[in-house]
Amino acid sequence: MDGTTLLLDRNRTFAETFDQGDMPAPPKLGTLILTCIDARVDPAHVLGLELGDAVVFRNNGGRLTPAFIDEVTSLAALVAKMTGAAEASFRIVLMEHTKCGAQAFADPEFRAHLQDRTKVDVSSNAITNQEENLIEDVNRLRDAPYLPSSISVAAMLYDVETGLVREILPDRTLADLRDEDG
Ligand SMILES: [Zn+2]
Repeated sequence: MDGTTLLLDRNRTFAETFDQGDMPAPPKLGTLILTCIDARVDPAHVLGLELGDAVVFRNNGGRLTPAFIDEVTSLAALVAKMTGAAEASFRIVLMEHTKCGAQAFADPEFRAHLQDRTKVDVSSNAITNQEENLIEDVNRLRDAPYLPSSISVAAMLYDVETGLVREILPDRTLADLRDEDG
């Protein structure tokens, strides 16, 4: 069985017992997760997510790229429009992991080589030290000018060897983070 046939086969099994066709689009846990594309780090498994629980964004490293900030900014505007609220309110969970391939992007020579050859800039994807990078990324969310203060953020680190997630920063609203910084 080739890979695509396997996936279609698994989907038919999924659809056989599927009974959630009327599920609303907003995530049940009010949560958006940003994590790495690494196949070992699927939040559905690692965090026990059910279908419809959370919005999941993934990129190389699970880091806060300008593209991610744009996505969240437009999502916040969309949620506010759909709910009629003045400001969107949801939780962002940043989850990086140990033994991440994006640690290779920390090498300036490799980054420069990639940019020369492909014009792709991966500087904001680089993992240098997961705990420090998570704190930097929380601060970048805090400083993103168009993100509503009612959004909250938490940071976690997943260990690919033990399967355990460790909390790096507990859930805080951007309002609290901005007050502290101000
Ligand atoms: Zn990774």
